[in-house]
Amino acid sequence: MKTLFEKIIDRDIPAEFIYEDDLCIAINDINPQAPIHILLIPKKPIKMLSDCNDDDKDLLAHLFLTVGKITKKLDINNTFRVNINNGEGAGQEVFHLHIHILSGRRFHWPPG
Ligand code: AMP
Repeated sequence: MKTLFEKIIDRDIPAEFIYEDDLCIAINDINPQAPIHILLIPKKPIKMLSDCNDDDKDLLAHLFLTVGKITKKLDINNTFRVNINNGEGAGQEVFHLHIHILSGRRFHWPPG
């Protein structure tokens, strides 16, 4: 069965696309927690970050370099937060790895 994000990748479900390449997509989060809230999602349906292994080294590097590409393009390169929820206890709801990119407001620490 496809994950929610696979359905978005396959255009079975609509989403606002910000970016796409061979390995990943970026979409606007449907329930934004900041004025800018983007989800960067690998096309490979890895359940969570802790499921990654050495085979995913290049993909993970690609994802983090793509964060930089997107934040540059949106001119938010100076202030943004990236977040990965790993597992239910950490707030993960969709079990297909994704990086949250948030910007447009002040962020606090600890995140809670
Ligand atoms: P997480 O809690 O880290 O698994 O994050 C899942 C994120 O997916 C949440 O921020 C949701 O608001 C977001 N989300 C859920 N459904 C959709 C959708 N159809 N399109 C865009 N974002 C979604």
